[in-house]
Amino acid sequence: MTTDLATLTPVPFTQVKFNDAFWSPRLEVNRTVTLPHIYRKLKETGRISAFDLNFQRPIPSPIVLIFGDSDLAKWIEAASLSLSTHPDPNLEALVNKVADKVVSAQQPDGYLNTHFIVTQPEMRWRNLRDWHEMYCAGHLMEGAVAHYRATGKRNLLDALCRYADHIDATFGREPGKKRGYCGHPEIELALVKLYGATQNPHYLKLATYFVDERGAQPHYYDIEARERGEDPARYWAKTYEYCQAHLPLREQKKVVGHAVRAMYLLSAAADLARENDDPTLLETCRRLWHNLITRRLYLTGGIGPSQHNEGFTEDYDLPDETAYAETCATIGLILWNHRLLQLTGESKYADVMERSLYNGFLSGVSLDGASFFYENPLGSAGRHHRQEWFECPCCPPNVARLLASLGEYLYSTQQSDAWVHLYASSEVDLKVDGRPVRLRQVTRYPWEGKVRLELGVEAPQTFALHLRVPAWCEEWSLSVNGAKVESRPEGNGYLLVQREWRPGDAVEYEMHMPIRAVWANPAVHQLEGRIALQRGPLVYCLEGADHGGVILDRLTVRSDDVLSGKFSADCQTELLGGVTTLHGFGSILEEEGWEGTLYRGRPPASRQVEITAIPYFAWDNRGPGEMRVWLRTGGR
Ligand SMILES: [Zn+2]
Repeated sequence: MTTDLATLTPVPFTQVKFNDAFWSPRLEVNRTVTLPHIYRKLKETGRISAFDLNFQRPIPSPIVLIFGDSDLAKWIEAASLSLSTHPDPNLEALVNKVADKVVSAQQPDGYLNTHFIVTQPEMRWRNLRDWHEMYCAGHLMEGAVAHYRATGKRNLLDALCRYADHIDATFGREPGKKRGYCGHPEIELALVKLYGATQNPHYLKLATYFVDERGAQPHYYDIEARERGEDPARYWAKTYEYCQAHLPLREQKKVVGHAVRAMYLLSAAADLARENDDPTLLETCRRLWHNLITRRLYLTGGIGPSQHNEGFTEDYDLPDETAYAETCATIGLILWNHRLLQLTGESKYADVMERSLYNGFLSGVSLDGASFFYENPLGSAGRHHRQEWFECPCCPPNVARLLASLGEYLYSTQQSDAWVHLYASSEVDLKVDGRPVRLRQVTRYPWEGKVRLELGVEAPQTFALHLRVPAWCEEWSLSVNGAKVESRPEGNGYLLVQREWRPGDAVEYEMHMPIRAVWANPAVHQLEGRIALQRGPLVYCLEGADHGGVILDRLTVRSDDVLSGKFSADCQTELLGGVTTLHGFGSILEEEGWEGTLYRGRPPASRQVEITAIPYFAWDNRGPGEMRVWLRTGGR
């Protein structure tokens, strides 16, 4: 079979230097506040000392500590990624110390999971469905690869290779092996990374096996449940949809179950589509992506409305105030779309990445970097707040590792092509046709749509520059060295500028960024009669702090006011670390005259109120209060 796979290669984050008013301060806070904060919490909660293997824990153990190794692993990864762009001898010494401790816990056969070594050794590999052993292994592998790349030290990487060899010797289709796979996907994409770092083909083969075996009959989770003396019909989640093991992946039609699991599995599927040149996995990704994006995605890039399964429910079920939308799920969505973008060169995947990044992902961390959302609802009566830590703290270190590697998402190269996916002031060293090109991007994105790109070529060089036209952008202009260039996006959604570039050449690209009203498909009954405000990639919300006691859920905004330009955008350098706010008027229902009355034959009066919208990501940084993304709209 031949494939239509494009082969974009992401430019490594180590080649990208941010000099950006929006991102640079956030990356600095991530490095100087979030990373130490997470380390302190890991230490306080015994997640580091667990590797000394002398803790005592009741059985059945609290489920969160069963996968506590993964939280430390993600910190090792985040800290190592940070070291790769910001050398820091103290942090490096600390990461090395933690890595040594992890290695010291490894068993002679390569096994490495603190909970099962200490507390339930007899239960090793006996409940893959629920107990996250391979999930923890996967995060340790990702941490080990990042640690090796940052420090050049091989000890953690070698230890995780031994663990991977142990897992490879235990699971697979060969006689004598168990035909299992983890209930929480993660190890699949991690093994592809381990393969990338070591070139050991066994790891790629094992990842392929895990993805291919998932959902096969007779069902492994039935078999292992019976071996534990349990009735598989009594599975607490009722259906293997919860862990995307109800059917082989290639037969799945909808994206279902636990949202983080789905995204990690699909990220691995995209990796394997590329590594194994397997068009059936790309086709699967495209089919499930279409279901997700047209029926199951929040405007903010959040996914998974339900707390019950931390995941998906029905098509068009997108309640705003009770949205679960776990931060990790949005991160998984970014990981998956980044991979699909490299495979296809299609801007729709970068659009999802951008929507998630600037909204549902960034809301996951406070402006000061020390508190986090696990859930990211699109409305709140005032009781939802970020916390310093969680009993299940998967999200904070996940935020930290994505921010520490953010540069990876901006640029790609092909043989004679350079691609710009996201806009942020930065300098990047590319190789085009084997020759060095330094690209300098200057912009005030996401507040303004103007981007200047300076092409630092050493000598005249012909190549194609692809610039993404975001889905939100309907009007743009482009000029090269001051001369206007007529340009339409190619079928993939990118503008193509092909020419002989000379030293000093510059491209000016301007995306018009009006304030937009957004409606949801009428099938989303929870959002009927409501609009949201968006400008550029940013989704906006109203917050109590700006509206002095007005109940925002009683407020009505006329969409005509938005469409006819009656709303204005104001740059506020002092507010919330510097944001552009939106201003206009709405009307609010009066309570006056209703004292002692529950029903009456006349509607409530209304009065005009001034409204201020802030970017969604910035809410809940000024104390408790109501928040609404979806605003009532109506004839008034
Ligand atoms: Zn999480």
